[in-house]
Amino acid sequence: AEWCLSMPKIELHAHLNGSIRDSTVLELTKALGERGVINFSDVEHVILKYNRSLTEVFKLFDLIHILTTDHNTVTRITREVVEDFAAENVVYLELRTTPKRNNSIGMSKRSYVEAVVKGLKSVTSVDVDFIPPSEDSKSLFNPLPPSVTHDKCNGHVRKKIFVRLLLSIDRRETTEAAMETVKLALEMRQFGVVGIDLSGNPITGEWTTYLPALKFAREQGLYVTLHCGEVPNSKEIHNMLDFHPQRIGHACFFEDEHWRKLKSSKIPVEICLTSNVRTMTVRSIDVHHFVDLYNAKHPLVLCTDDSGVFSTCLSKEYKIAADSFGLGRREMFELSRKAVEYIFADNKVKDDLRKIFNSMAKNME
Ligand code: 5GP
Repeated sequence: AEWCLSMPKIELHAHLNGSIRDSTVLELTKALGERGVINFSDVEHVILKYNRSLTEVFKLFDLIHILTTDHNTVTRITREVVEDFAAENVVYLELRTTPKRNNSIGMSKRSYVEAVVKGLKSVTSVDVDFIPPSEDSKSLFNPLPPSVTHDKCNGHVRKKIFVRLLLSIDRRETTEAAMETVKLALEMRQFGVVGIDLSGNPITGEWTTYLPALKFAREQGLYVTLHCGEVPNSKEIHNMLDFHPQRIGHACFFEDEHWRKLKSSKIPVEICLTSNVRTMTVRSIDVHHFVDLYNAKHPLVLCTDDSGVFSTCLSKEYKIAADSFGLGRREMFELSRKAVEYIFADNKVKDDLRKIFNSMAKNME
């Protein structure tokens, strides 16, 4: 529906390589096929979309990473992903990605993240605010009053999107590798890195492996969000909730004890409806835990997870929630507005976003 598209929205759970455009995946696949790096007909069926189990999704990511892990491609997909979110009126985007090392092409975790930042800088179709202004540069960086769109001198109406970055730790990584990512995040704070995510195949690895790095991240003032409960793993869910991250993603295989703990902790949940249905981590949309959390007024935010891989977008997720759970335009607007309170950016950004929502609220009457 039109209102889902025009409504200002906040995206807090989007994986860079999962948000890649179909057309870009296809183009990259063909190019690598022509160079003989991959066999196009072998990978074609992996790319074509159908309901995939969580395990199959991770196989697909291994393939996508072969296509995308070079500096120019990382820069390109970052630019495209930001443009795509901005085009559907996402006003604040927290983009997460796993820094990757690939010695054969001279890629370090740091140069990977620099390629992402280059992508943010290379967006021209919208204004991107990704560097938190320092005290003395505030007036230079923020000359315009906040609004979803604002007039440039030349009379064109341009959109503006705030972008902040989260660096992901892959569950395949060692404690040392996880620590390297956290240190990198600290070094890259000046470029809008605000936090750490734990993701990757949930059947791999142990919570205790990442814990030292996550604790260090928190001590250093980085925000932490965890993929939590994508598979039944009672002990891990318990430990993750005990860690008290600033947000969690998914929360699918929770038991009564976990729900109680979650609700008393008020930890906001990133809800990815299409992702959960497609990967079959929830049986069907009508039994999704969104309903219970929403009715309990638990902090939650609708997100896409992997808009490319799951053929969705944030407007679609709002539409699905509205249709599936019988929520109206006004309620969806309030849901979107509340997400401002769960973002990892500073109070100045929150204030700017509140103003955007306040000014749009009038249109909702
Ligand atoms: P990237 O970090 O390479 O930009 O984005 C893709 C990566 O995000 C995947 O390799 C995986 O580690 C993580 N990811 C994407 N979607 C999911 C998901 O649904 N669950 C989990 N646990 N990890 C995911």
